[in-house]
Amino acid sequence: MQLRKQTLKSQSKQIYDVLVVGGGAAGLSAGIYLQRYLLSTLIIDKGKARSFWMQELHNYLGLPPDTPGRDVLKQGKEHYLSLEGDYLNGYVEEVIDEGETFAVRVRIGRNNPTYEVFRSRYLIAASGIIDHLPKLNNMQNVFDYAGYNLHVCLICDGYEMRDKRAGVFGSSESSLEVAFSLGWFTPHITLFTNGAFEVTDELRERLHTNNYQLVEQPITRFLGKNHQMTGVEIADGSVVELDTGLISMGSKYHADYLKNIDLEYQSGNLVTDKMNRTSHPRIFAVGDLKVGMNQVVIAAADGALAATQIWRDIRRSEGNRHSSKATNSNSLHNQVDNPNLTKASA
Ligand SMILES: Cc1cc2nc3c(=O)[nH]c(=O)nc-3n(C[C@H](O)[C@H](O)[C@H](O)COP(=O)(O)OP(=O)(O)OC[C@H]3O[C@@H](n4cnc5c(N)ncnc54)[C@H](O)[C@@H]3O)c2cc1C
Repeated sequence: MQLRKQTLKSQSKQIYDVLVVGGGAAGLSAGIYLQRYLLSTLIIDKGKARSFWMQELHNYLGLPPDTPGRDVLKQGKEHYLSLEGDYLNGYVEEVIDEGETFAVRVRIGRNNPTYEVFRSRYLIAASGIIDHLPKLNNMQNVFDYAGYNLHVCLICDGYEMRDKRAGVFGSSESSLEVAFSLGWFTPHITLFTNGAFEVTDELRERLHTNNYQLVEQPITRFLGKNHQMTGVEIADGSVVELDTGLISMGSKYHADYLKNIDLEYQSGNLVTDKMNRTSHPRIFAVGDLKVGMNQVVIAAADGALAATQIWRDIRRSEGNRHSSKATNSNSLHNQVDNPNLTKASA
């Protein structure tokens, strides 16, 4: 059921089997599997998934290669809701490990927000990442092209960039390393530092050897129309013509809500085992937030693995429930009856 601010009271008293933070490809896939295992699930999503920004999903088996990410999300959410999973638009601010349950504090609504605490036995972190973009005075100028022919993912869009004049936009020397992988698809590469860092002699030499161009002046704006970037204007007013671009400036990892829990990370990504369990036995991580490939097909598979392992854990610990009523939000089994489990401070 789609939960609404006005009708939350019964759900906030319930203990869900699993609370999923993030309703992108990974979280929705987990939710679909969990509901089909007759487990009670709440997905909480703040919106603007990375998949939503994906204009065309080029490489997913069984879908036309121009399928927009928003269609995948819409279909996935409908599928999940048809299995009677609960879904809430909200921002997860904090998770507290209470021993047998997690208390998950959520901000609901942008203007005049309210705060609710939900509880679950397991938690799936499916909150993803978001790509850093070049900081220009007019960010709308970046949004007009990012996700169209100004790409952020070499694995996703290297094929679309083949033999084209490609700009690579980095924030450090290491982020520019991607240019050498892009060289697999096209030899026509210009690297832009946007005036943000110094280039070592060693990198200059490598660029020279590969016949790549280097532009060290700050970018003033991207040029183009109808979401098709055709070049870049730089600080001295000159224009570098391009057919496509790749932004490689690192990402923000959406894991702030886990700050109170001691988990193993590797460069911002959560480390998991092969079923996507983190270093905490009741927290799983799926999709872009965990170590691995940032792809929709991987995110969907991750959700399936985590859900299956949680089902195994619960089945082994409590035996068969024998009744699909266990998934019902009114199930006595899942009600909060411990008076100590009151709302966390808002
Ligand atoms: C422009 C672009 C093009 C791409 N093209 C392709 C492609 O062609 N093929 C391919 O396989 N992959 C592609 N990708 C990669 C793909 O989009 C990601 O790998 C995939 O979306 C990851 O899914 P996810 O569920 O892990 O994360 P997301 O889809 O980002 O979903 C995470 C969700 O969690 C929410 N969230 C975050 N923090 C919180 C919080 N505290 N509380 C509540 N909710 C929260 C986010 O808002 C988001 O809705 C592309 C990505 C981009 C940006």
